[in-house]
Amino acid sequence: MIKEGSYLFVEGQGPVEPFRGKYAVKSANVFERIRAGWAQAGLAPESAYLPMRIELELTTKCDDSCPSCGMGALPLAEGRTLTDGQIRFLLQQFASIGLPSMAITGGEPFTAWRALLRMIEGAREHHIDISKLTTNGSWGTLGRCARVFERLEKAGFLDGRLFVPLLMMSIGEQTTPLESVARILHHAVTHYSERELNVAVSSLADPATREHKVDDLISAYERAYGPFPHERVHSTMRVYLNNQRLGGQAPVHRPGHTSVARWMDHCFDCFAPTIGAYVLPTSLLKNNGDWYTCAAFNVPEKLAFGNLLRERATDVIARAAASPYVQRVRAGGGLKALHDVVSQEFTRNTTCTSFCDSCALLIDQFDKQTATTTGHRTPMVIPPAALLARTNGAAPGSQP
Ligand code: SF4
Ligand code: SF4
Repeated sequence: MIKEGSYLFVEGQGPVEPFRGKYAVKSANVFERIRAGWAQAGLAPESAYLPMRIELELTTKCDDSCPSCGMGALPLAEGRTLTDGQIRFLLQQFASIGLPSMAITGGEPFTAWRALLRMIEGAREHHIDISKLTTNGSWGTLGRCARVFERLEKAGFLDGRLFVPLLMMSIGEQTTPLESVARILHHAVTHYSERELNVAVSSLADPATREHKVDDLISAYERAYGPFPHERVHSTMRVYLNNQRLGGQAPVHRPGHTSVARWMDHCFDCFAPTIGAYVLPTSLLKNNGDWYTCAAFNVPEKLAFGNLLRERATDVIARAAASPYVQRVRAGGGLKALHDVVSQEFTRNTTCTSFCDSCALLIDQFDKQTATTTGHRTPMVIPPAALLARTNGAAPGSQP
């Protein structure tokens, strides 16, 4: 399988090789093309935060119930799917910020089939690529698999201008029979070239034994179709992080604790335009419209900067870009930029279990040291004064 992280292209750090990596692009001048889209949308090129992708929770419904679900998924009868009106509105929001690509997640997006097709068709109309579509593969049955591919293709899933789309299958705690996942893989690699569609498998390692379910998948594939197409399938071999927990779920214990200082020294430049192994910066858009600067599983709550169902996307992006924390991380090439703000006593003596957990701790320290407040929660109800200002044509928040 193609190892995660094999190809990494960061803007300004060497040439881009097209058709390489899990998030492959179609041309070497992709960053220039994306910047042209941002400029057309009126975003300042020096802005500290310009999203390359928005990861969107199309639905919170799921047809599975993984004990360690990090997606906040709910049973089919309880989850919520974006309405047609919300999908139309969000696509306009995305276009208004020159968004190059989006990733569709859930819940399980294929349980919201009609909304999924609306989103893909709408994205094509607005010239926004679908760079990733995540699924548990429950639709990979003999009766559905080929028909689903046909319909996805017709909706425009493969029509991206900049990115080769990626179909990402999660086989961690999911109960989908591996024969169904193998069928989807087989269909993908025998009907589409690597220039048309990439496929990846996100496999859960048992934290105790470190054994991966992907080995069972390879066996299931080889029993049905012959040699596994290692050269076409990208891997995402991760143990689940300390995810957002649902009521009744057991906590996840990740072995080993690491100092914040160490996480800082090894972290990525999260806000530098990046493709190949990752797409960065990637924002997260929750199903209720709440927008975060990062699509990490355990993104700190303080990196929420607004709500795209209640505010203009341009205002929310501008708010994130104006955040002293975001500006500091961007200017200094990642969390290491905070070494001269947060004391060594804290960063060396405090431990946590992931980059983003260390980020949450650093934000608290940063806010204290600089007397700033990172993040913004959009009120559910628009205050009457702001409503009046809007009716009178003034910008929300401006003085009458
Ligand atoms: S399939 Fe995915 S979204 Fe559904 S419960 Fe499992 S991890 Fe959560
Ligand atoms: S470390 Fe912080 S800035 Fe980087 S991806 Fe995680 S939450 Fe985002």
